[in-house]
Amino acid sequence: MNPSQEKLMLKKIPVAVLAATGSVGQRFVQLLDNHPWFEVVALTGSDRTLGQPYSEACHWILPEPMPAWARQMIVAPTLPEAVAAKVAFSALPTDLAFEIEPLFARSGVVVCSNASAFRKEPDVPILLPEVNPEHASLVGVQRRARGWPGCIVTNPNCTSTGLTVALKALQAAFGLRRALVVSLQAISGAGYPGVASIDILDNVIPNVNGEETKVEWEPRKMLGEVQAEKLHLAEVVISAHTNRVAVSDGHLVCVSVELGTPASVEEAGRVLSNYQAPQVSGQLPSAPQPVILLRDEADRPQPRLDRQTGRGMTTVVGRLRPDPIFHLKFVVLSHNTIRGAAGGSIYNAELLVKMGIAGSI
Ligand code: NAP
Repeated sequence: MNPSQEKLMLKKIPVAVLAATGSVGQRFVQLLDNHPWFEVVALTGSDRTLGQPYSEACHWILPEPMPAWARQMIVAPTLPEAVAAKVAFSALPTDLAFEIEPLFARSGVVVCSNASAFRKEPDVPILLPEVNPEHASLVGVQRRARGWPGCIVTNPNCTSTGLTVALKALQAAFGLRRALVVSLQAISGAGYPGVASIDILDNVIPNVNGEETKVEWEPRKMLGEVQAEKLHLAEVVISAHTNRVAVSDGHLVCVSVELGTPASVEEAGRVLSNYQAPQVSGQLPSAPQPVILLRDEADRPQPRLDRQTGRGMTTVVGRLRPDPIFHLKFVVLSHNTIRGAAGGSIYNAELLVKMGIAGSI
C-alpha cells in the first residue's frame, strides 16, 4: 500500500490490547496511537482493574504521555465476546495465554501474541517480518488443523529478537553452524513491577527464568524452513547464558559465531549493513529503517544511547571482530519492549494484513 492509498482508507481495522495495563500492554497503547491501519477499540485487564478507566487502572511507566483516547477507555474483561476486534495484541502472562488466546482464535480473531505459550507448536509461526515472513503460511495449516477462523501468531522472546535478525543476515550469506551468546537483559523485560529494586541495584543476576532454553531454540525455528507445510528447524546449535542487569530498556547480547563458510570482518560487516527485509515486509508502517545498523565505535552499541535507533525497531550491531575460538564475535542491541515485544507484534499484524490473513484495509 502506498501513502496515497493509505489516505483513501476509510476504515481502520479494530484491534484490542489484551493485558493492556502491564509493561508490554502500555507499549502497545503508545505505539498504536495514530497507527495508520489499526484503531484500538478495547483495552483489557484482570479482575484487579476491570471496569476502571485506563488512566486509573494503569500505572503508566513510559516517558511518552498516555494517549488521550486511552485515558477514558474502560478496562474490559479479557473475553472475545467483550471485545469487537479483528486483531488482538496479547500481552498476557503465559499461563493465561494458554487458556485465553485460543478462545479468541476460535471466535475468528487474529491473535498476535507476546507470550511463549504457543511458540513451540509446529503450526504456530514465530514471526520476525524482516527474517521469515514466509512462515506465515503456517497459519493456513493451523486453521485447517484446529478449525479456527482466527489464528495465533507469536513474536520470539525479546532476547532472541535482535540476535535472530543478525544471525539471519549471516546465515543467508555464509551459513551458520554454532553460536555462543551471553545476554545482558534490561529490567523492563521482567514486566511491572518486575525485579525488586533491592535485588537489581548495584547488581547482575546471572539467571533469567526460562530464558536460556528459549534463546537456544526459538532462533532455530525462525531460521528454519517451511517445506510442504512443515517447519524444519535450522541445524545451528546455540549455547546461551542469560543475565539481568540494572538497565531500564534494551537487551544487549554478546555473540560468537561459527559460520558455514569463514568470512572476514569486512565481508560480514558489509552483509550486516546491507541486509534488507524481504520485499513483502520492507515497506510496512513499522518496518525498521534500517533493518540493521552496524556501528564501528569501540564502545557501541549501548542501551541508553542506541536503543531508540529506527524508532526502537532497528537491530544495532557493533564490536564486530575476529573470534579466536569461532569465526566472528559482535554485540547486538534491541529494544525489548518495542522491537522485542509490542512493536514486533504490531509489525507482525501489518504483515498479516498485507498477506490477506488479518482482514483488509
Ligand atoms: P506485566 O508488566 O507483569 O503485566 C502483566 C499484565 O497481565 C497486566 O496487564 C495484568 O493486568 C495482566 N493480567 C494479569 N492477570 C490477568 C487476567 N486474569 N486477565 C487479564 N489480564 C491479566 O508483564 P509484561 O512484561 O507486560 O509481559 C506480558 C507478556 O509479554 C508476558 O507473556 C511476557 O513473557 C511477554 N513479553 C514481555 C516482554 C518485555 O520486555 N516485558 C518482551 C517479550 C515478551 P492488570 O494490571 O489488570 O492486573
